[in-house]
Parts: sequence; C-alpha cells; structure tokens
Amino acid sequence: AKDAGGDKYSVFNESMSTQVMRRIEIEHDVRDALLQEQFKFALQAQIEISTGKLIGFEALIRWLHPKSGYIMPDEFIPIMENSESMITLGYWGIKRAFAILAHLESLGLSGYRIAVNLSASQFLDPNLIQFMREQLAESEQSAAQVELELTERTVVADIEQTLQIMHQLKELGFSFSIDDFGTGYSSLAYLSQLPVDIIKIDRSFIAGMSDNSADKQIVKSTVAMVRKLGMKVVAEGVETAEQLSFLSDMHCDVAQGYYISKPIFEEDLYQVLPSKIDK
Ligand code: C2E
Ligand code: CA
Ligand code: CA
Ligand code: CA
Repeated sequence: AKDAGGDKYSVFNESMSTQVMRRIEIEHDVRDALLQEQFKFALQAQIEISTGKLIGFEALIRWLHPKSGYIMPDEFIPIMENSESMITLGYWGIKRAFAILAHLESLGLSGYRIAVNLSASQFLDPNLIQFMREQLAESEQSAAQVELELTERTVVADIEQTLQIMHQLKELGFSFSIDDFGTGYSSLAYLSQLPVDIIKIDRSFIAGMSDNSADKQIVKSTVAMVRKLGMKVVAEGVETAEQLSFLSDMHCDVAQGYYISKPIFEEDLYQVLPSKIDK
C-alpha cells in the first residue's frame, strides 16, 4: 500500500513538473518569439446573418514555436498576462490589425472590420491611448474599422478606470465589444452603462441550443435585450446550420464560427478571399 501511494505521488509529481516546465519554457521563449516574429494572426470571418454578407474578421493569435510547433493562445496568453511581454504582444496585434486592413484595401477589399482581443493588462497600460493615437496617425485606415474586444472580467475589474479609457478610445473612433458574454457576473443593464457597441454571446450558450433547451431561451432573450439597448449582438462558435437558423429567427445580427469559416492564416486569406467576394 505504501508503494502504491508512493507511485501515485510520483505520478502526480511528474505531471506537475511537466506543467511547470512548460510554463517556464513559455515564459522564457516568449521574449525571443517577439523578436523573431514567431506570432501570427489567423482571421475568422464574421457574417451579417440577415444577408449572409461578410462584414469582417476576428484576429486570433497563433505562436509558431520553433520546437513545439503551434501553441494556442488559451495556453500562452494566461501565462503572459501581467508581464511586459503581454503589452508588447498587444501592441504588435494592433499594428498588425491596421496592416491587415491596409493589405485588404490594396487587394480591392475595403470596408471590412477587424476585431482584436485586448487583454486586461494591455487595456490598463497607461501608454495605450498614446499608442493608439500614433497608429491612427501612421495609418490610412480609420479607427471605425477596428473593434476592441474586452471580456466582462476586464471591464468590471476597475470600473472607474475602464470608463475613462473606453471614453478616450471611443473619442478616437474605436468601437468596443464584450467578449464571452454570459460567463462573467455582469448584467446587460450594467454593461449598457458603458460605451459598448457589441455583445458577443459566449459559444457555450450557442453549443447548448437545441429545441426548447434552456440555452436557446437564454440566447433568445439576450439577443432581444441587447437589441433593445441599441447594441449589436454577435453569436460566436456557430457550428451547425440549425444553430444559424435559430439565430436568424431570433434576429441575431452577426455570426462567427466553424460553420461559417475556421480561422484562416493571414497569407492564406489573401489567396482565397478575392475569388470569394463578388465586387
Ligand atoms: P475568444 O476571443 O473567445 O476567441 C474565440 C475562440 O473560439 C478562438 O479560439 C476560435 O478559434 C474558437 N472558435 C471559433 N469558432 C469556433 C467554433 O465554431 N467552435 C469552437 N469550438 N471554437 C471556435 P483560439 O483562437 O484558440 O483563441 C482562444 C482565446 O485566446 C480567445 O478566445 C481569446 O480570449 C484569446 N486570444 C486569441 N488571440 C488573442 C490576442 O491577439 N490577444 C489576446 N489578448 N487574446 C487573444
Ligand atoms: Ca474574442
Ligand atoms: Ca469569445
Ligand atoms: Ca474566450
């Protein structure tokens, strides 16, 4: 019995140390990764449900690690959060978003919107507003084409400061969406006090939609309320024709998910997009 206990303990220990090692590796390698341009965006299409028209993309970051291959953001963003690297990576993302809009325009594809995820530490960085001003000055693109995604958690962490930063960025012309809506503790009534343009319903609710399911009711009433409050609503994680049809019946504005398109690397998008769009 003692041996068995000992074995269990050592197995536990081993996987613990694997996790710790992975974390240390990521923390260490991220600095080089920024210098060596190992990050890139995959872009996921968003369509207007009533017309099926492509309206823009969400930019989703990928890390092509020289030894480990692709590392997904759910793994490295939480490790980077609250570090200087997170701020640097955030700036890279904003720059890239403007560059993508410019590249699309050079292909004759203008008028699209890019949504970028802002982490909490990036949003609260005192240099953010100045950086955004500089980007706008350097770019031919307008801020109206850039949507900034914040989670409920980021927004409620420090409401006074959030309001101040949001108002300044709104003044520059950026729009805001609340990501993963429904997974935090904030209410729509509360969020409607903020200069928020778009609510993105978390994909767990979309996945749970079937006839008469509680999730379907939740999505339906959320869509109705968001629209009543004058904001737009995006459903994320749309994977089936049935989900899209439910969302259409509910008058949900925008859909995003594998059923419409998987995220596509920037360079691939430039190859496939022109032929898919009738101008
Ligand atoms: P998110 O903002 O909720 O992004 C949506 C995630 O759902 C993406 O995962 C996307 O690939 C995935 N997804 C899209 N459609 C479907 C679908 O139909 N079914 C399912 N099951 N999943 C779908 P990804 O790319 O792994 O990103 C994970 C999270 O990492 C993002 O969640 C976001 O919170 C964060 N993230 C991604 N890029 C960035 C970034 O540039 N900066 C920051 N700060 N965070 C980022
Ligand atoms: Ca997002
Ligand atoms: Ca989300
Ligand atoms: Ca998420």
